Amino acid sequence: MNRHVHTGIGMTSQRTRDRLAQQLRQRGIRDSAVLSVMRSVPRHLFVDEALASRAYEETALPIGHGQTISQPYLVAFMTEALLNGRPCHKVLEIGTGCGYQTAVLAQLVEEVYSIERIAPLLHKARILLHRLNIYNVQMKVGDGSRGWEQPGPYDGILVAAAAPEIPEPLLLQLAEGGRMVIPVVTADGEQELLRITRRGNECHCETLESVNFVPLVRG
Ligand code: SAH
Repeated sequence: MNRHVHTGIGMTSQRTRDRLAQQLRQRGIRDSAVLSVMRSVPRHLFVDEALASRAYEETALPIGHGQTISQPYLVAFMTEALLNGRPCHKVLEIGTGCGYQTAVLAQLVEEVYSIERIAPLLHKARILLHRLNIYNVQMKVGDGSRGWEQPGPYDGILVAAAAPEIPEPLLLQLAEGGRMVIPVVTADGEQELLRITRRGNECHCETLESVNFVPLVRG
């Protein structure tokens, strides 16, 4: 019997993920821990079976409920920007979606807290993370723009949906030296990915890239 049939041949194999990691390195991802996690998390399990063969393409794919799984480069880029080569213990993620970014974060930090407003997406993500033996993630359904006060403050906050402005509660839940990576809608309707670093009562803001996320929906 051919074992490859069961371990996933072709587009869902380890070789495909090795190639993905290589492409990410060529596109400028430098953090070796991030690259190694991108090589190990089985992204094809996070999309519909009919789309599994496209899971490692540099594209966003539908995950139902009008939402998309972010393209692999953006997941790697945002993770690298969030960690910024520094220790990061506690991370808050807004917009769990299918849970792929959550799984990547969970391999790199001690505790992940993740909020999703669409309950069925969160439910599916929770089951999948447990199936992958990932247990350092707490999840809840809610409006992520209010943050999750009680387990905070966070060393990192990663927002996976475009905000009309930076939600104040999230800034307040950042630990000293903590970073937030967030796509924000600009005056001309475009989106920019920002990294905000908290220093005392001040926030230092950097513009990282032009991006295209689904909107952060209030309530
Ligand atoms: N990282 C996810 C991205 C999913 S798309 C993935 O790769 O699958 C962004 C997600 O943010 C969607 O699932 C959407 O439902 C969710 N979202 C939008 N506004 C939100 C809000 N205010 N609070 C929590 N989640 C929100």
